[in-house]
Amino acid sequence: MNEFVESKVRLRWPEELRSSYDVVIVGGGGHGLATAYYLATRHGITNVAVLERGYIGSGNSGRNTTVIRANYGVPEAVRFYQHSLELYQRLEDETGRWIMHKEKGLLWIAHTEMGLRAERARAALNQAYGSDTVFIGPEEIKAICPQIDLSGGGRYPVLGASYHPRGATARHDRVVWSLAEGAMRGGVEVHQRTRVIGLQVDADRILGVETDRGFIGAGTVLLALGGQVSTIAAMAGLRLPIRTHPLQAFVTNHYQQGLDAIVASTELLFYASQTARGEILIGAEIDRQPSYSYRSSYGFLSSCAGRALVLLPFLADLKVLRQWTGVCDMSPDYSPVMGPTDVQGLLVTTGWGTWGFKAIPAGGEAMAALIATGVVPSLIAPFGLDRFVNDRTLSDRGSAGTQ
Ligand SMILES: Cc1cc2nc3c(=O)[nH]c(=O)nc-3n(C[C@H](O)[C@H](O)[C@H](O)COP(=O)(O)OP(=O)(O)OC[C@H]3O[C@@H](n4cnc5c(N)ncnc54)[C@H](O)[C@@H]3O)c2cc1C
Repeated sequence: MNEFVESKVRLRWPEELRSSYDVVIVGGGGHGLATAYYLATRHGITNVAVLERGYIGSGNSGRNTTVIRANYGVPEAVRFYQHSLELYQRLEDETGRWIMHKEKGLLWIAHTEMGLRAERARAALNQAYGSDTVFIGPEEIKAICPQIDLSGGGRYPVLGASYHPRGATARHDRVVWSLAEGAMRGGVEVHQRTRVIGLQVDADRILGVETDRGFIGAGTVLLALGGQVSTIAAMAGLRLPIRTHPLQAFVTNHYQQGLDAIVASTELLFYASQTARGEILIGAEIDRQPSYSYRSSYGFLSSCAGRALVLLPFLADLKVLRQWTGVCDMSPDYSPVMGPTDVQGLLVTTGWGTWGFKAIPAGGEAMAALIATGVVPSLIAPFGLDRFVNDRTLSDRGSAGTQ
């Protein structure tokens, strides 16, 4: 429990599970809870249960580095993430809760000719599809972020960057708790410590879920399971194109001088921002070996810290406070997977990998609309599972932050 939860959020935890619901959402992370929130607030659908095996936000939604941005590399993604960014801008007003949303601007630094071309192309594409990104040179970079060593330690010179002024952060657990509160206020039940252990399917139609508290019938089941999605989907005979990879991050102690912008470097494979508490929060790429392990490693810490120091030498005076890991649902094309499956009534929202925090409002809004109307909203139609069968993948690896 933190101060925010104790003093402000009003959560009404139900005691009993009913024998059935119109909608069962498996997974109490940001995507599951946002879907429940929008079902209740936009569509008046409240005979809904969210089932969470631990506590809400205990998965990746409470472990991420909180970056919100829309500077993606394919048109479909730019439109989707731009909408999500705008929903985030309004989320405090809408929920009445302080999620600590802060616009900081994001610098995506290039150190090579190839990197420069990629960032120029990103800026042009973003502008064409409605997201605010501009290409800037070293002097402008230094003005935005004086802490950057433009020589890149003599090995990684800063040649230019794409700058995304709307890039922001928001406090992850506050986002989760605010959405849960809004959903519960509308009548949705959120059951913590309720683990789904099976899916019941009859003649290609979902009937409900087996849990460690008994069977629950459902007209619609949404799997919003983060890194655990493949194992649960397999219980309905579905083989998803998802691999689970650990992703690590760490924070330093308090740094007084403000690091105002979010700084990312593709070639140095790291990104950094400053938290409201003053810590410097640093993330990087996924562990290469697929695994469900939550173990953090010294190897990651030392190599990532070494790369970050090249660009931000002030970090040498700070100490590492904490390190942690999440397990990410990675899709082959680095784009999310949202929509129906071959099992009638069984939906998925997955493939959120290392980039799904920023997508929570738009993903939840779209999945709620799909459940309410039976029609896939045009914003998410390109992200369906069928794209892998129809050879219409949305390769967006260059937008994965550090790829
Ligand atoms: C270190 C790190 C840094 C990241 N940084 C960013 C970032 O800066 N920006 C960004 O946009 N994204 C980032 N991400 C990615 C982002 O956190 C995720 O994509 C997003 O949180 C996914 O939300 P979700 O609701 O799909 O999954 P989760 O939040 O993982 O929720 C899934 C839930 O399902 C529950 N569950 C699992 N199995 C069962 C079961 N059998 N029964 C019931 N419940 C179950 C879990 O306990 C969990 O709470 C980062 C991720 C990590 C790990």
